[in-house]
Amino acid sequence: MNTIDKFNEHVVHSYGRYPLVMDNGSGRRCSDENGKEYIDFGSGIGTNSLGYCDEKWADAVCRQVRTLQHNSNYYYTAVQAEFAEKLCNTAGYESVFFCNSGAEANECAIKTARKYSFDKYGKGRHNIITLVNSFHGRTMATLSATGQDVFHNYFFPFLEGFIYSPANDIKALEEKLDDTVCAVMIEYIQGEGGVNTLDKEFVDTIYSICSQKDILVIADEVQSGVGRTGKFLAGEWYGKKADITTLAKGIAGGLPMGACLFSEKVKDVLTPGTHGSTFGGNPVSCAGGLAVLERLNSDGFLEQVSEKAEYIRNILMSSPEVASVSGKGLMIGISLKTKKAADIAGKALEKGLLVLTAKDKVRLLPPLTISKDELDEGLKILLGILEE
Ligand SMILES: *Cc1c(COP(=O)(O)O)cnc(C)c1O
Repeated sequence: MNTIDKFNEHVVHSYGRYPLVMDNGSGRRCSDENGKEYIDFGSGIGTNSLGYCDEKWADAVCRQVRTLQHNSNYYYTAVQAEFAEKLCNTAGYESVFFCNSGAEANECAIKTARKYSFDKYGKGRHNIITLVNSFHGRTMATLSATGQDVFHNYFFPFLEGFIYSPANDIKALEEKLDDTVCAVMIEYIQGEGGVNTLDKEFVDTIYSICSQKDILVIADEVQSGVGRTGKFLAGEWYGKKADITTLAKGIAGGLPMGACLFSEKVKDVLTPGTHGSTFGGNPVSCAGGLAVLERLNSDGFLEQVSEKAEYIRNILMSSPEVASVSGKGLMIGISLKTKKAADIAGKALEKGLLVLTAKDKVRLLPPLTISKDELDEGLKILLGILEE
């Protein structure tokens, strides 16, 4: 039986998949089982931040897997300590809880916000405002937090205590920020929701009201964080630091890892027994994460992300089929005039280019290490299809 048939017989059909069996990767390219190569403009799904099987990253990971692959969080490990220190220093946070995915990082943020408020004010201040078109994950709490009706189906009852407010609507938000609210949770750039960037004025208003009322700001930077936008955190573009920031996707270069970062105000909210994860902070993932941080912190790395971003954006805007280009840095949404994003993704695949979609946009999340030549090669394919 071939791979696809075997897969479909035994793996649950919870994804719409392309009929393509991935086999291996190197640099910014991966190959399918027939040896056909693809330039990957999606970094997997924003995960392979350094591309495929980066040499230094792979060495670090292999070294760790041969030293200590896992242990219990009832003990300490040097690699987790090292990663936590570097991550907190790089991001500007006090402490971190490690988990395994974006949804888990957001679960941790939600629990922490509610406990912060409960510890200080008692019951009844548990509501969390999230934005319409947000995406926060697939667990029950994070689905409930996700401000999209299409996700609020089948699995009733959802969690109470999430209130949705439209992005960039200051008045609507102000009306909802009453004394039942413990946190506002935002993506500075909504990823799955269509690469929509929040206005500076809207973000400023959130922060100013929240600081007056001791409401926490949670920034879900699962997609926008770890250098994706040309800063370590997208919040830096706004000059803002959330009380809690969540990271995952690209943080460990393609290994499962999520992180919930705490500022001074909330760093002691979680106490022994209140939260945990068997695999959270797994040594192998931490070793991968350290390799990613080392690269991101190397001289000029983030600057070259921004330079490439400007380059790619200018070329995209030159296409008559492109209506607009949204997002920031190498988190890119392309609105098309006449064509459908899903059709473009399918055609690109045939021609050896992987792109993502988000709502009605073509979405690009290229590896942060992509070269100009590789960008040119992929863009040529993409523009060719757009102008067919
Ligand atoms: C992908 C994503 C998530 C969910 O992450 P998982 O690792 O799939 O649980 C949450 N928030 C944002 C902004 C994301 O892009």
